[in-house]
Amino acid sequence: MSNPPTSRTRVRRRPERGDYDRATIDAIVDEAHYCHVGVVHEGVPVVLPTIHWRLGDQLYVHGSAVNAVLKTAVGTPTICVTITLLDGLVLARSAFHHSMNYRSVVVFGPATLVEDREEKLTAFAALMESVVSGRGGDCRPPSDSELEATALVRVPLNEASAKIRGGPVADDASDMTLPHWAGVVPVKTVLGEPLAAAEMPSGTEVPAYLRAWVDSHK
Ligand SMILES: Cc1cc2nc3c(=O)[nH]c(=O)nc-3n(C[C@H](O)[C@H](O)[C@H](O)COP(=O)(O)OP(=O)(O)OC[C@H]3O[C@@H](n4cnc5c(N)ncnc54)[C@H](O)[C@@H]3O)c2cc1C
Repeated sequence: MSNPPTSRTRVRRRPERGDYDRATIDAIVDEAHYCHVGVVHEGVPVVLPTIHWRLGDQLYVHGSAVNAVLKTAVGTPTICVTITLLDGLVLARSAFHHSMNYRSVVVFGPATLVEDREEKLTAFAALMESVVSGRGGDCRPPSDSELEATALVRVPLNEASAKIRGGPVADDASDMTLPHWAGVVPVKTVLGEPLAAAEMPSGTEVPAYLRAWVDSHK
């Protein structure tokens, strides 16, 4: 499935790096743990980092019921959400051709406040799973007062673009004989050894789902 590009999502600069395939977009959204939400608040653009997760065609963000950016988002016709995965530092022979390898997504859409209790519970369960697969079954679900204190906002993923830069450095032919080191330094997210909370009984094992996840990201 592909979202045809709109006048807003069509990648104009380096269009060959643009990708509108939903599988590509979903994979970037799912791998990233946080996004940046952009709104115009009192006439000024404000872009704040926050956790996101996806359920089907919807991107979710949440925050305090009095979160200013979320309140503004819900009151405006379109917000912009950006998600970025950094894959490498591209060190060129020339200063000009330094770059980064990345996979990123830009989403435009209306932000809808979710008030339905069942959708909230389902979405928050999905959030736990998106943090660490298996976590949903290993924590206390939100209470009614916690649900009320938390604003949940969804944005459809049907107006979105991905942009991907991969591969080697792209120096000018005339620079190829310069003596400077050139190449790509890969950037990866690695996880450290889990540190148990001080209150945990000593000798408590790291749960199997967490051990597997940490070990697969070392
Ligand atoms: C980690 C990182 C570092 C970058 N560093 C630079 C830099 O230093 N200088 C620079 O010029 N550019 C950089 N970029 C690329 C930058 O995001 C823009 O794509 C580029 O600047 C073109 O901007 P534009 O306004 O001409 O975009 P246009 O091509 O006019 O944008 C039109 C539409 O294309 C889509 N689009 C554009 N960029 C992206 C994107 N990155 N991801 C998904 N959809 C997108 C959006 O829907 C946007 O509304 C970087 C990107 C990443 C992820």
